[in-house]
Amino acid sequence: MSRQYHGSCLCGKVKLTVPFTDTQFSACHCHTCRQWGAGPFMSLMYDGQIVVEGQENVGVYHSSQWAERAFCQACGTHLYYHLKGTQHYYLSTWIFEDINDLQFTSEVFIDKKPTCYAFANPTHKLTEADILAMAAANK
Ligand SMILES: [Zn+2]
Ligand SMILES: [Zn+2]
Repeated sequence: MSRQYHGSCLCGKVKLTVPFTDTQFSACHCHTCRQWGAGPFMSLMYDGQIVVEGQENVGVYHSSQWAERAFCQACGTHLYYHLKGTQHYYLSTWIFEDINDLQFTSEVFIDKKPTCYAFANPTHKLTEADILAMAAANK
């Protein structure tokens, strides 16, 4: 089952509509995500077309050869991580206020997580090696 979910940045100049088919989200502990967002990046994955209102306010930072990170240029809210040349998005969980059945199911780059914090949730944990192996298998 899918329905339309609505997200917004802090100032409201950017709005997103995404028909998520499930509401499981993950946290990424990699250094880039933590440096970008002052903490692990919690995101909902979506494969497909997303609708963005206020596109002129969206800034994009090319954080690597394969991915970019989008944010609102007016208020700085982080919107999504996107694999270039695909419709594969990791959208910031907390911009969607109308999702009430969120499930925190996985943590990625767990081997990059500093030891000074840890989530108590029983999540599926993946290391960088696990992720690279999955990416290679998907090619
Ligand atoms: Zn904004
Ligand atoms: Zn990351």
